[in-house]
Amino acid sequence: MTPTQVVAIDGPSGAGKSTVARQLAQRLGFGFLDTGAMYRAVTWHFLQAGCAPAECADSQEQGVARMRVALAAARLELVAGRVVMNGRDVTPHLRTREVESQVSAVSALSFVRAAMRDLQRTVAASGPVVAEGRDMGSVVFPQARWKVYLDAAPSERARRRSEDFARQGRTVSEADVLEEILVRDRLDSTRSDAPLRQAEDALYVDSTGLTTESVVAQLFAFVQADERGQADARGVVVS
Ligand code: C5P
Repeated sequence: MTPTQVVAIDGPSGAGKSTVARQLAQRLGFGFLDTGAMYRAVTWHFLQAGCAPAECADSQEQGVARMRVALAAARLELVAGRVVMNGRDVTPHLRTREVESQVSAVSALSFVRAAMRDLQRTVAASGPVVAEGRDMGSVVFPQARWKVYLDAAPSERARRRSEDFARQGRTVSEADVLEEILVRDRLDSTRSDAPLRQAEDALYVDSTGLTTESVVAQLFAFVQADERGQADARGVVVS
């Protein structure tokens, strides 16, 4: 049985999942699981080891063997909102373009996905979580009590990501970011293992033109409505 006390939020790059999920978790008193950060940390680790997919392009078999060895040596921990790899806080290194250019290729590898899926389920087994990613509702937490697919128009997603880069002190044009986002969307939704897709029973939310606050409020109401429904069924009063 996979954990059920999970708000599973999936959607494409730049739809605002991280910010919304973090704030929703805070409001609900749930843990927060940023699974994109986990794939980014593994990608960073492979880059450090010199075996990221682009670096091993000439011999795929050898590259996969090296990545397997590097993954076996990776101890990934999520500590108080930080991502720690083999004892080092790697959070500041995860949102670089170098990591972003390789992360979709890394996350398409089934042995990487299997390791991340186990870790994600272990985290969720210890208490209720808001988990965000690409395959939360469809694969990792198929029994999640709440499922959401958060979308936004590509141009808005590109604008948000280029604002992210600006906050990091880097100027990247919206046109370039848009191109990178569309490449990542394509790779993430066409891979064979756990592609990005909306779970059949997910609530679809289009955040284009909406503030973070209003999306969080909408999702909070969605969770609360279900809590009330369950309590009513048990004859319990929820204030
Ligand atoms: O959400 P974020 O942009 O941080 O995710 C980075 C990348 O990690 C995605 O483009 C995707 O390739 C991968 N990912 C995934 N499955 C998840 C979360 C992220 O494949 N559950």
